[in-house]
Amino acid sequence: MLNIVLFGPPGAGKGTQAVKLVDNYNLVHLSTGDIFRANIKGETELGKLAKSYMDKGNLVPDQVTISMLEAEVDKNPTANGFIFDGFPRTTPQAKALDKFLASKNTTISIMLALDVPNKELVKRLLERGKDSGRADDLDENIIANRIKVYNEQTAVVAEFYANQNKFEKIHGVGSIDEIFIRLCKAIDNKYKKV
Ligand code: AMP
Repeated sequence: MLNIVLFGPPGAGKGTQAVKLVDNYNLVHLSTGDIFRANIKGETELGKLAKSYMDKGNLVPDQVTISMLEAEVDKNPTANGFIFDGFPRTTPQAKALDKFLASKNTTISIMLALDVPNKELVKRLLERGKDSGRADDLDENIIANRIKVYNEQTAVVAEFYANQNKFEKIHGVGSIDEIFIRLCKAIDNKYKKV
């Protein structure tokens, strides 16, 4: 199985690149943000709970997020592999994912971390907010909080994968296709080495 953690701050381009990677490597795309938004739209209990955190740009509690993610993996028993987009966002989430995948005799193959300067992130998020319909992309204070939460709670997850020799930093500025080629090279290189 090819299991990829697509990592990076909000606005780094994870969603855009995930769609292309899914297509190229025949993977299942699991975006925790998208799953929460679908639950909000469907007015589920999970959606109501998630919304109260998402509206402020804070993280949804680990246990809720981990259970939801595991249920989504279990819905795809024949998958070739997964792209985890926006997950894990805390070290407890990364540990839970490792344990869960090990129970299925698989593991994370690689973490691809999109590296984009802060100023560029804010610019991209405000631009996306014009037509994404996402309240958390429209307000500069919420964007600032999401980036702060990323720096304080999420950035450390990179170390978890670096310690396992799975971390690859990818320059995240350039055209969509240029960045996509960089990501594919990192995946293909890693696979040649194995
Ligand atoms: P995203 O679509 O990845 O930007 O996520 C939007 C929002 O969903 C985040 O700001 C969080 O409130 C919530 N969220 C998404 N993924 C996670 C996660 N792995 N852990 C906690 N909260 C999350």
